[in-house]
Amino acid sequence: MTGIYAENSEGIFKKSVLEAASYASRISNGGVLAVCIGQPKDGEADKLAQYGVSKLIVVDGIPAFDSQAYTAEITKIFSANQVQHIVLANTYEGKTLAPRISVAMNASLATNVVDFPDTSNGFRIRRGVFSGKGFAIVELNKTNKVIAITPNSTELKQNPVTISIEHSQAAAHQINTEITATSKAAGKIPLTEAEVVVSAGRGMKGPENWKMVEELAELLGAATACSKPVADMDWRPHNEHVGQTGITIKPNLYIAIGISGAIQHLAGVSSSKVIVVINKDPEAPFFKAADYGIVGDAFDVLPQLIEAARASKN
Ligand SMILES: Cc1cc2nc3c(=O)[nH]c(=O)nc-3n(C[C@H](O)[C@H](O)[C@H](O)COP(=O)(O)OP(=O)(O)OC[C@H]3O[C@@H](n4cnc5c(N)ncnc54)[C@H](O)[C@@H]3O)c2cc1C
Repeated sequence: MTGIYAENSEGIFKKSVLEAASYASRISNGGVLAVCIGQPKDGEADKLAQYGVSKLIVVDGIPAFDSQAYTAEITKIFSANQVQHIVLANTYEGKTLAPRISVAMNASLATNVVDFPDTSNGFRIRRGVFSGKGFAIVELNKTNKVIAITPNSTELKQNPVTISIEHSQAAAHQINTEITATSKAAGKIPLTEAEVVVSAGRGMKGPENWKMVEELAELLGAATACSKPVADMDWRPHNEHVGQTGITIKPNLYIAIGISGAIQHLAGVSSSKVIVVINKDPEAPFFKAADYGIVGDAFDVLPQLIEAARASKN
């Protein structure tokens, strides 16, 4: 049996969890067991069942994310169910848990995984390295394996099955984390899940000009992102900051407006499938990484793009 850690956000399973389920279902030869912490909302378990999860164990009794308590409960359930392959999304939680689970289960570990394993000769798997600038093929040679997959990098394929749900009461853990306040990302579409991202940098001159960026994003069904200085100056919230010190994303389409393309920015976005750069400086480094480039003033180009996007909807 293959296992997944089904991270939930206020009881909702995001697309990256469905990708983990789909991945696990493809590599499993005996069903998929999902573990989630906290009660999912009505209908959410059925979403997992659509992607091959045949059993869901809901762990009750851990009030907030705590890596040690989560690891203890997840590994207890996987060990009891003889799970050898564990798949999870390479999100903030996934990245935190994957190495801990691999140590606890004496497993080989691959993070940033971008493809299905090649099992023709051992268990070889492709993962992104050097901030997405290259790939490495690694061999996982222990019996137990932990695989953290990069969101948006593997095929999401339905494999509907019937799901059974069980509950497990967590042991008493010393919880080392206390959440005193939370702030939610403003965007409607979570950045790490978005297939289209409209991102802007210092070239937008000031926060008052983001209306255009948001309008284009809305029309394209995209999430918004920004460069680091933009977040540092409080033009945009920090959860939109992409790059080496921000979030790493891999959308199908990344539109960069007024961003120079510094290496630290590229580190977080260069794995995007298609990159469109809009910059008034033809020498901007970002054009070297672009699939399509528009040399022009954002204040001329954006209104035209918005008009074209609106026209294409009618
Ligand atoms: C350790 C370290 C970590 C870092 N981590 C990150 C990170 O995670 N993410 C990140 O983004 N940066 C990061 N940086 C900062 C990075 O080096 C760059 O300084 C930053 O990405 C530049 O942001 P920018 O492109 O918005 O601004 P700028 O470099 O100022 O570029 C603005 C661009 O807008 C163009 N422009 C200006 N006006 C217009 C207009 N009207 N129309 C069209 N184009 C216009 C300009 O030609 C220019 O190319 C890091 C730096 C360090 C040292």
